[in-house]
Amino acid sequence: RPRVGILAVQGAFAEHRERLQCLGATCVELRQASDLDIPFDRLVLPGGESTAQGKLLDRLGMLAALQRRIEEGMPVLGTCAGMILLAKAIDEQSEQDHPAPRLKTMDIAVTRNAFGRQLASFRTEEDLHGCGRVPMTFIRAPYVHACGPSVEVLAEVDGRIVAAREKNQIALAFHPELDPNDSIHRWFLRL
Ligand code: GLN
Repeated sequence: RPRVGILAVQGAFAEHRERLQCLGATCVELRQASDLDIPFDRLVLPGGESTAQGKLLDRLGMLAALQRRIEEGMPVLGTCAGMILLAKAIDEQSEQDHPAPRLKTMDIAVTRNAFGRQLASFRTEEDLHGCGRVPMTFIRAPYVHACGPSVEVLAEVDGRIVAAREKNQIALAFHPELDPNDSIHRWFLRL
């Protein structure tokens, strides 16, 4: 039975928990440093507000410990704000306007709030490599504007990278937890 740690300091963690529990996983909500002592073998970083999440991770003393687990190979799924937390780099404007600590474990560079005003929020369907065709819900989503040589592109929408993988790390610009379709969570639990 997989045990999934879900970062639960801010954002859409409850929706991830519901999906994962329906699939038979045990979920551990990570709210403070001591929660990291509860055993879990996979990690989910939910959507929400990445600046707030990064600051909280730092203030709560969870940043370095989570970085270490990811670097040691724990499978991690970062969605939307979670993708931003994983990214080694973000666009300069965001870095200047909203500086905040991040995990920076994944060799991708992302642009925040990248789909423009009218498209702040939209839904589409695309192929996610290895997982099949899935619905994708975007909410003030980032996209990947550059990735390192060990990063595999998993999906694009309108020529923009919206899903990528680097070994144990998966970053999605959209929100599978807000969709009744559970194929991404199933796929993640099989990794
Ligand atoms: N725009 C948010 C951020 O930059 C991410 C949006 C989301 O997670 N839905 O943190």
